[in-house]
Amino acid sequence: MPEYPLTGLAQHVADPARVLTTPAVLDRLSKDFYWYSPVLKRQLAAKCGDIAIEAIDVGEVLAIAGYAREHGIPVTPRGAGTGNYGQCIPLEGGIILDLSRMDRIEEITSDGVAVCQPGVRLATLEQQANAQGWELRSYPSTLAKATVGGFLGGGSGGIGSISHGMLRDFDTVRALEFVTMEDPPRIVRHEGKAIHEILHCWGTNGILTRIWLALTPAVEWSQCAVAFPTFEAACIFAREIAEDASWTKRLVTVFEWPIPSFFTPIKQVQAPGQALNFFMIATAQAEAFRTAATAAGGQITFSGTYSGPRTQPLLSDYTWNHTTLWAMKADPQWTYLQAGFSATQCLEQTRLLRARFGDEILFHLEFMKTGDGSIVPGSIPLVRFTTEERLNEMIAYCLEIGMSIANPHVNHLEDSGRFRADNIQLQAKHRYDPSGLLNPGKMLSFHPEKQL
Ligand SMILES: Cc1cc2nc3c(=O)[nH]c(=O)nc-3n(C[C@H](O)[C@H](O)[C@H](O)COP(=O)(O)OP(=O)(O)OC[C@H]3O[C@@H](n4cnc5c(N)ncnc54)[C@H](O)[C@@H]3O)c2cc1C
Repeated sequence: MPEYPLTGLAQHVADPARVLTTPAVLDRLSKDFYWYSPVLKRQLAAKCGDIAIEAIDVGEVLAIAGYAREHGIPVTPRGAGTGNYGQCIPLEGGIILDLSRMDRIEEITSDGVAVCQPGVRLATLEQQANAQGWELRSYPSTLAKATVGGFLGGGSGGIGSISHGMLRDFDTVRALEFVTMEDPPRIVRHEGKAIHEILHCWGTNGILTRIWLALTPAVEWSQCAVAFPTFEAACIFAREIAEDASWTKRLVTVFEWPIPSFFTPIKQVQAPGQALNFFMIATAQAEAFRTAATAAGGQITFSGTYSGPRTQPLLSDYTWNHTTLWAMKADPQWTYLQAGFSATQCLEQTRLLRARFGDEILFHLEFMKTGDGSIVPGSIPLVRFTTEERLNEMIAYCLEIGMSIANPHVNHLEDSGRFRADNIQLQAKHRYDPSGLLNPGKMLSFHPEKQL
């Protein structure tokens, strides 16, 4: 049983029906897609919050934070719970603060900045932006469910990152407002470079309550699937398209066979035994693109228009970390890694991995732009799980051959891809949450008693 006095919390929300205590509901709201990792699945299955509150405005967030601060109760913010690392799983119980009902889009400015609350679903924002001639710069493949606050709290990038970089790049996040866990809590606004103190901190530094997100002019998109006899040929063509700035694109993905065989709802786009590329290309260039793909030895297996997140078939539903989901549906032994290949040595690195690990690893690349404008093959390879030791051996070998790894089998910020040598996130944690009540246990380098 929790030692915290939870009963007083109901006074801080306008409607007590938004205070949830049913065990099954608490268990559901305490979980995300952590089970993608067999390691985290074992570690986190029993973790659960003690109470969940659906906040509907910043006043309630402030009041709940104040009560939690006064009584020393942990608070874990939550959007839609589609994160992969158990990011929103409360390790020490306490309050699950569900922000999905703070879902108002306040404004889309004439220069293309969306001002919104954190619970807005990305698909809703994309739709509303489209109506005003704009679109998201990048979004995760979980667009339909994921919230803007959760994307900033735990996501990185996705569809669109080939042209606009990751969420952290190119001033995409213009400003943030968040509620601190100081005594007393207050609303703070960060803009410009200072957003990086709070961005992708898994809700450990502040509770996002208002977001300014830069958009990009809307493009009419087409989707195209192209099969190649070999993975090498698929990579070479994808890289050409990715690196050539004259193509207007939103997605450049490569799958080696048999990954496409896991995509059971879209069997018609598969070419058995062959590697497959998925693209989103401006409709104005679609015909020229098909000609280029055929000239490169590719076979167009699908070509169609894109009319938003409900388009069927929707090729992006099989890309980024959705690929892992389809693989796990086919065989639950699959899990994944998040890796960065070298822009110049990618194929050599895949050969080394194949030589060492055989078909324990399957290659899936997502080309993306980095903050300095260069194009790199990001990778979310599938890994056939046997033991944690074998997984760690594979990670160590990836690092040894010059790849980068954001380890999705750990439940803390530092090793899962967002460690910053400048330590600004840790410093912000000391400033805004000195008692360590926000999503405790997720920032390992933080110790409440330690003064910087
Ligand atoms: C099938 C699948 C595919 C995916 N593909 C991608 C992808 O392409 N790219 C990508 O980046 N991610 C991807 N993800 C991960 C995840 O879907 C995204 O990061 C998504 O944006 C998370 O949004 P959410 O609302 O579900 O956040 P949640 O899971 O609810 O929360 C994520 C983190 O943010 C914190 N948080 C939530 N709201 C707030 C707030 N208001 N203030 C402070 N902190 C907050 C939480 O505490 C948690 O630590 C994928 C996941 C799955 C399961």
